[in-house]
Amino acid sequence: KDDEWGWEERQAAKASAAARKASGPGAGGGLLFQIHWHRVVLDEAQSIKNPRTLASHAAWRLAAAHRWCLSGTPIQNSVDDLYSYFKFLRYKPYCDHHSFKTLIKDRIAMDPEKGYQVLKVVLQAILLRRTKQSTINGEPIVKLPPREQNLVRQDFTEQESVFYKQVQADSMKAIQAAADQQGSSSQQYVNMLYSLLKLRQACNHPWLVRGVGRTLYGGKVTAAEVAAAKKVPAELRAQLLQLAQRPQEQCPACGDVPEDPVVSKCAHVYCRQCMAGQLEGLGHEDEFLCSACSHVLRHTDIHSAAALAAAGGTPLASSPAANGGADGAATGADAAWVSSSKVDRLLQLLTAVRERNGAGA
Ligand SMILES: [Zn+2]
Ligand SMILES: [Zn+2]
Repeated sequence: KDDEWGWEERQAAKASAAARKASGPGAGGGLLFQIHWHRVVLDEAQSIKNPRTLASHAAWRLAAAHRWCLSGTPIQNSVDDLYSYFKFLRYKPYCDHHSFKTLIKDRIAMDPEKGYQVLKVVLQAILLRRTKQSTINGEPIVKLPPREQNLVRQDFTEQESVFYKQVQADSMKAIQAAADQQGSSSQQYVNMLYSLLKLRQACNHPWLVRGVGRTLYGGKVTAAEVAAAKKVPAELRAQLLQLAQRPQEQCPACGDVPEDPVVSKCAHVYCRQCMAGQLEGLGHEDEFLCSACSHVLRHTDIHSAAALAAAGGTPLASSPAANGGADGAATGADAAWVSSSKVDRLLQLLTAVRERNGAGA
């Protein structure tokens, strides 16, 4: 369809404009783009599966004689994931969005059995599958020692146990409330995953759950962050704060429940770590694209719950994160570190491994 072409080209133009800006005028998109590579291997190639991301557009633009994609999970969500690889690999005619749709997607939609047979042939021409059991000339391709699994049980301290039970009770309530509501099923699903995430975090360290004190950079909220949050219209600010405290969708960068969430002005909630990855190396005025909606964003368009709350949003009183908000400030970088039983046990085990390997001597 014509409008899809238009969309594609608009994204490409936006991305290259952003890339030009990011690397400064006259740099031609940076050093990587000025070299004609003999071979480019994309390890963990699934990181370009979303054709809307700047990373995908950058990978497509690399000049090379040979291109490889390496991945243990080439398809994570749907057949659509393949398009970006084909585009990177210059695999004609499937690297063209229209051809990909008509020759692969539409065929699968019309007749799945035949469609997947076609896809199999399309993939056979370019795909090599290797498993741990694969052999070359009768020899295994990798010789790995057998995997050893030890289950180590660790009890909570009394304090941790009380905290965990509180989080558990809150989670049960939230799940029950979600089940009673007539919300969309995918939203309920995310709510449940989010509750499970909090329970896992509570097992690791209570501070992970009381994350409301955390800011974009992990330290105390800065005046600049609050100033940026204040520029957001009050009504939107309140909505963004709600989202940051109770994410309704998966993180667009990693597809998991947003951990330690931050929110963009286009109302997409990312893990703090995932967003930090996107912001890495960008100046304050540099632009990048939201992985979810391709909205052009700057540093100052990303907000933490702490900054939004400090700018005058109303935190959700009922969430465990907000309950922990009073001591949330204690999670700042300059607060005295308090360990947890699991962290202590883990360090013990790691130290033992180091000593066993002789590196500790
Ligand atoms: Zn994420
Ligand atoms: Zn967005």
